[in-house]
Amino acid sequence: MFNHLFQKLTSVVRNYHNFRLQLNIDGLPIFKSSGLQFWPILGMLQEYSRKPVLIALYCGNSKPQSLSEYLKDLVCELKSLSTGFVVNGKTFFLTVCSVICDAPARAFIKGIKSHNGYSGCDKCVQSGIYINNRMTFPELNARVRTDVSFSNAEDEDHHVQPSPFCETSIAMVSGFPHDYMHLVCLGVVRRLLDLWMGTCGKLNYRISSRQVSFISGKLLALRSYIPSEFARRPRALDERLRWKATELKQVYQNFMLLSVSIYILASPTYCLLLNDFANTLLRSFVKHFGELYGQGFLVYNIHGLTHLSDDVKVHGHLDLISGFPFENYLKKIKRMVRKPSSPLQQVIRRISELDSTSLKDEETWNTHKKLKMLHSDGPVPQGFTGAVSQFKELSIDEFVINTAERDRCVKMKNKILLVQNIIVFEGEVYIVCKEYRHIAKFFDYPIDSTELGICFVSDLSPNLMSLKLDTNVQKCV
Ligand SMILES: [Zn+2]
Repeated sequence: MFNHLFQKLTSVVRNYHNFRLQLNIDGLPIFKSSGLQFWPILGMLQEYSRKPVLIALYCGNSKPQSLSEYLKDLVCELKSLSTGFVVNGKTFFLTVCSVICDAPARAFIKGIKSHNGYSGCDKCVQSGIYINNRMTFPELNARVRTDVSFSNAEDEDHHVQPSPFCETSIAMVSGFPHDYMHLVCLGVVRRLLDLWMGTCGKLNYRISSRQVSFISGKLLALRSYIPSEFARRPRALDERLRWKATELKQVYQNFMLLSVSIYILASPTYCLLLNDFANTLLRSFVKHFGELYGQGFLVYNIHGLTHLSDDVKVHGHLDLISGFPFENYLKKIKRMVRKPSSPLQQVIRRISELDSTSLKDEETWNTHKKLKMLHSDGPVPQGFTGAVSQFKELSIDEFVINTAERDRCVKMKNKILLVQNIIVFEGEVYIVCKEYRHIAKFFDYPIDSTELGICFVSDLSPNLMSLKLDTNVQKCV
């Protein structure tokens, strides 16, 4: 075990007075054959960076035997940092705003029943129903658990052992949001794909091999249009499976309820504005899901969707409570272990080497506009005379605009534009572009897609236009 939250904090302290820390705790198998597991504790300072740091690392042949031993140092350090710590004569405070885990890790850390046990929902009080070897949670409106009801251990059937986190100020229910990556992407969507393409469940919502290859073709055709911010491009669906689709419309509409509600909850613009609407859609999704695929599939992950909008109300849009940044960091940790002996030492040595260089990265985290790839190929519209510099790429905060296919579609001044060139003239950045003149809705169930900024564009104007770069520029897929 190794612990250094305080050093990490003091190395980044600048103008911040209050630190809000997001923790991530998860098991990480290393070397399949050996059975060795890491149980890293990662932290990410909110409002400061989207880069996790390693706070502690445990290694063993299973999850830590003793929860209190595992969390002891961290709890002790959190308690002391929350009462204030002094760096360069200034006092700072630290609070933990949320803890991101998958369901098994969450049950372990909170000392509660497993997600496939009765009373296993950590957000509401219902004793599940066991159907076909699966624990299901059919109740949509059960009494919700609260931070107070948890600390009073009101539901005896829910608790297994006291969690050391109860000694800290961490909110034991609202502070453990459902993580979007595990719940939605790996949980619900994977379950849907299994149902559509797998061997379990009823035949009437499976897709045929012809349909699989049709969808695969569509997915592959999209590859070159998927912006560089996406970690993966679409792949073909696995073709080993059959599908028959007499009730495809119901399946499609059910899926749209999920897709639209998750789009809303993942959007910084709409997540609070349309929060109640998203909640209604998710509840309909879960209800119809049970009718469509069978009550036996209303498992923890599907049921968990009914609690998601509440988590967003407390913590903000889904990307702020997702496991993705941690997952990427965990992969890096795994790669640091090159041989089976002394895995802890190998990781700590590599991290200390990286730490000395990582500060430089953090310094540049908040840079604004950066122009790259100077060229002189045009096009430059008429009216720009004298010194014009042309660029192929512009990075703005979190995204890139480039004249290449996948990164050139943007929305600015309520127009959907295809970028042809980026120019700097008299100190101002201009986007040289063509406009899509026809904008229509892409879908209308369960909401007109244009209301969410999702539209079908066509009729690209042949005329070049130049627009001064707007701070409200948005990137499109
Ligand atoms: Zn629940």
